[in-house]
Amino acid sequence: MSSWGFVPHRHLHAKVWAFLPLELRLALGNDPTPLVVRATDADSRKHTDSLEAPRHYLDLDDAHAEGFDLWGLPWSGAQQLLEEADSSSSVRRLGILPWQLEWSYWRLVKAWAPSDSSEPDLDKIVRAAADLGHYLGDAHVPLHTSGNYDGQRTGQRGIHALWETHAVEWLLSRSEIQACPPCDAAVANYDPVWTPWEIILESHAMVPEVLAAERTWQSMCNRDGHGFRRRGRTMQLAPTAESLAVWDSLTHGHTWPRYCLASQRIAAAWHSAWVEAGAPRAPRRPRASWREQLALYLPRRWADWLLRISSKP
Ligand SMILES: [Zn+2]
Repeated sequence: MSSWGFVPHRHLHAKVWAFLPLELRLALGNDPTPLVVRATDADSRKHTDSLEAPRHYLDLDDAHAEGFDLWGLPWSGAQQLLEEADSSSSVRRLGILPWQLEWSYWRLVKAWAPSDSSEPDLDKIVRAAADLGHYLGDAHVPLHTSGNYDGQRTGQRGIHALWETHAVEWLLSRSEIQACPPCDAAVANYDPVWTPWEIILESHAMVPEVLAAERTWQSMCNRDGHGFRRRGRTMQLAPTAESLAVWDSLTHGHTWPRYCLASQRIAAAWHSAWVEAGAPRAPRRPRASWREQLALYLPRRWADWLLRISSKP
């Protein structure tokens, strides 16, 4: 399963930056670029880490069909239920998004306030914040809460990318799109356990509407709804701007407010984790020694030699 595409995830983090108070920006390194670039790290890890995919979703409908009420359960409780029901398949089979959100939150708190009281490492902070933002973004996508995530059970393949990539990219490309309403990250509430569950329930409640809208959309736009579009260096068949405008009205324009809400919640989550960590100031960047500074200006061979002698005890 894909997730909020490359462009939407990165735009989301860029938007979040605008909501952050100055002190928090400083504590994140005072530069949004690494957070924006790393917004898609979690998706890239799916290619190399088999444990990654279930972190991005929770199939609530399948959980209900299997008779589980997972709402608000700690992971140990959920794990026990899932294991007892079927010990032969993975306890992660329905996804672990709400628990992942909790763990990612605490990872960010720890990155700012290491338990061994060592100096916080800016790179760790940025990675943890970017991952938390990514998973929170995914939680706002209706189809990340359903086993029918790409309409594969209802003959609606492609609906996943339609909602979260094509529609969002189209919205982002429009000059007349309204700015997201301002949000004060310091005032917005974020609870590491309960807010993720609330978001997932909201998303899940939207699933029937999304599936119904796609059926109508297909019947209205069927043949004319797609055209070739340049994506990077290739041409791909994708919904046309006209058909995406139809899609947006069929979904009562619900995508953009959802996207804005995601950016506000990410801001609130980062802020809350930062306060939890004791509102630390900007982490100090390690100062380069005079040898390291000089090495920057020397030819490679001499630089290597200089750094070698400096690393000797
Ligand atoms: Zn994802």
